[in-house]
Amino acid sequence: MLEISGLHTFYGRIEALKGVDVTVPKGEIVTLIGANGAGKSTLLMTICGRPRATAGTILYEGQDITHMETFNIVRLGIAQSPEGRRIFSRMTVLENLQMGATTGNPENFDTDLERIFTLFPRLKQRQTQRSGTMSGGEQQMLAIGRALMSRPRLLLLDEPSLGLAPLVVKQIFEVIKEINEQQGVTVFLVEQNAYHALKLAHRGYVMKTGEITMSGTGRELLANPDVRAAYLEGGH
Ligand code: ATP
Repeated sequence: MLEISGLHTFYGRIEALKGVDVTVPKGEIVTLIGANGAGKSTLLMTICGRPRATAGTILYEGQDITHMETFNIVRLGIAQSPEGRRIFSRMTVLENLQMGATTGNPENFDTDLERIFTLFPRLKQRQTQRSGTMSGGEQQMLAIGRALMSRPRLLLLDEPSLGLAPLVVKQIFEVIKEINEQQGVTVFLVEQNAYHALKLAHRGYVMKTGEITMSGTGRELLANPDVRAAYLEGGH
């Protein structure tokens, strides 16, 4: 579904991506793990067109989107839930979800909203609450829900577990699994929480200073001694 080859991205003279190759097959959850500053967020942002890649290609369902405008990329069915959640904190939960639906067909709104509320019952209870006053976990649910309102076929998630309590992390990962299995959405998940991410994902990649250093099935990477030593802190 997504085929990234030889991707290079710079911030000024800093080369953040140094020839990255990643494949995300349709229907799968693929995770990208790596330490702070490895370039994970940069890869997700480059897929969405900002920053721009200086070399390499990004194919989405066979179509070259490397130089496409971000709003056209979104129209193709790619949605991103960015790092740090970036919800509209002064708006209510419902208003945030409405914002996520702006690229979709208005006729689908009620059905889509119900679908999000089934996935995240907490959001239904909190519809009229200002989203900035919700807990970190609730805000993360909202960020994912908002991304889903555009009916994406490919969902890009940037560190959904960041700063959340272990129990909430577990809930969020269960919902990601549900979105993938029941709604057929392909997921590309960037995570520092390597244990949960690799357990969930069909396939994984490890990134280190702008380069992919390892790849394999989630299970293979979880069992790999180098991955365990560097990213799993004694198993977790
Ligand atoms: P984290 O998990 O900490 O978010 P990451 O793997 O997502 O890390 P990136 O945020 O993609 O890493 O950063 C990759 C590199 O690019 C880092 O060295 C970072 O300092 C640099 N970088 C990121 N954004 C910018 C920017 N806007 N201007 C200059 N350098 C940047």
